[in-house]
Amino acid sequence: MPKIEHNDSIIGRKTADLPGQGAEKGAITLPGERAREKEPGEESILLTTLETAMGWVRGNSLWPMPFGTACCAIEMMSMLASHYDVARFGFEVVRFSPRQADLMIVAGTIVDKMGPVLKKIYDQMPEPKYVLAMGACATSGGFYRAYHVMQGIDEVVPVDMWVPGCPPTPDGLLYGILKLREKIERGEIRR
Ligand code: SF4
Repeated sequence: MPKIEHNDSIIGRKTADLPGQGAEKGAITLPGERAREKEPGEESILLTTLETAMGWVRGNSLWPMPFGTACCAIEMMSMLASHYDVARFGFEVVRFSPRQADLMIVAGTIVDKMGPVLKKIYDQMPEPKYVLAMGACATSGGFYRAYHVMQGIDEVVPVDMWVPGCPPTPDGLLYGILKLREKIERGEIRR
């Protein structure tokens, strides 16, 4: 029976049946199909820990909840638009209910009066949950050195990632979320 040998190939190959020949288990065998079959002892095995697997899953399936109050929110919207295609990283599913989200992105100035609202929404998010402070206002009050502006949202919620800028660019925010993802995958964030 003729075989496809690939004698000139630099890649080691097994011989394969020609189309229509060597039907196995009632199926028609395509060229090279038999070569993909593993011999006993050739199977691939992946060893890991449950914590590593959970970190990988969590880091690649973030569901953001935007808490936008000012100009930074516009940059956040830009990042979530099609140009940046954040579906590549698994966090394109933006949720406006805290009960369906695990990443709060605080984008904008937070006044003291808004503090209890921010805290309440954070409390309503299920564990594990993460907070990203976007821009100078959310991280430090920005240029609002005023009695009524919160000088950093870590006064009311724990912050896992800070993104500097006034405003940060969409690329900067994307970079911050990817860095947060790395921390989650490494299991560095535990509460
Ligand atoms: S950091 Fe700058 S751009 Fe962002 S909300 Fe504050 S003033 Fe606006």
